[in-house]
Amino acid sequence: MANDLPVITGITESELSNFLKEHGQSSFRQKQILDWVWRKRVQTFDEMTNLSPALRSLLAENFRFYQPEVIELTGLKGGTRKFLTKMEDGNLVESVIIPAARAEDGEQSSRITLCVSSQVGCAFGCKFCASGLLGLTRNLTTAEMIGQILSAEKIANHRIDNLVFMGMGEPLANGKNLFPALDIITAHMGLGIGARHITISTSGFVPGIKQLIDYPKQIQFAISLHGASNKVRNEIMPVNTKWPLEELVPALQEWVDAGKQKPTLEYILIKDVNDSPKDCQDLISIARKLNAKVNLIPYNTVKGLQWTRPSEEHCKQFCKTINYARIQVTMRYEKGHDINAACGQLRLRKEQGI
Ligand code: SF4
Repeated sequence: MANDLPVITGITESELSNFLKEHGQSSFRQKQILDWVWRKRVQTFDEMTNLSPALRSLLAENFRFYQPEVIELTGLKGGTRKFLTKMEDGNLVESVIIPAARAEDGEQSSRITLCVSSQVGCAFGCKFCASGLLGLTRNLTTAEMIGQILSAEKIANHRIDNLVFMGMGEPLANGKNLFPALDIITAHMGLGIGARHITISTSGFVPGIKQLIDYPKQIQFAISLHGASNKVRNEIMPVNTKWPLEELVPALQEWVDAGKQKPTLEYILIKDVNDSPKDCQDLISIARKLNAKVNLIPYNTVKGLQWTRPSEEHCKQFCKTINYARIQVTMRYEKGHDINAACGQLRLRKEQGI
């Protein structure tokens, strides 16, 4: 069945090279094919007019073009847009297009960031997250992750400059599809996005962190910490009961010792859960040990969950305390607060008819 054929945009250079070798084709053909797929962005093998008809047929018998359908696009002023994609099996996946913030001098940068999903739902069940509420349905394929970027470029009519794997799912739990996707995204004859413009985020999946350390490119790394003691993390992030801070922090230390990019600790501020002075001191101590940056994100309310956002004054005080400790810290209000942009919320709303 044609639907079982691999999607050409999910094939890495080395997979294509092996395929061509196996079929006795010269390596020069690889460059031509990649040029049609990634530079000229054709949608059929017939359009690859500098290939012989026999090679075009060979490709069509072994691969296919497929781009999942965008079924909903939601936006708000400021330019953030969220879109929902329907996969071939009917599963829904969401992605968020985020334009660069306006600089202090009033100049608007044209750079665009895309927040990508890596799984349909998520098995990790963080208590504050809409994606975790429905559990894991399945991993996204390499082509489905790449497909989100191609759709975003079409919607924005602009190339994507930065990628953050912070949408639905735990990306490192889908390493078998994530790492080939990273190869395609960073390839010169692929999407050509520099590794330093890509951030992988994890909730604390320690085996995946070890794999990421071995990945040779200089990817940015963010850890969804959200609690700086086992007590808090156990309460809101079940992953911590399997890989507590005694295992997570040394794994992060390995990342730092391997000379990788400075990690970022993501910390959603939730009222009366992780916003006490002790929580702040615990966070400072981990950030100091890892020489990490801290990103504070006041909580986005999720319908059906009991958590709330601390007052603005309280968030500012928490931020100031970290700053006084000479830790690099920023406070980031989610731009999508009023378009259900906390991860998984758009899909959840659609599936539950909210
Ligand atoms: S925050 Fe991330 S890891 Fe946790 S449940 Fe949501 S998608 Fe999964």
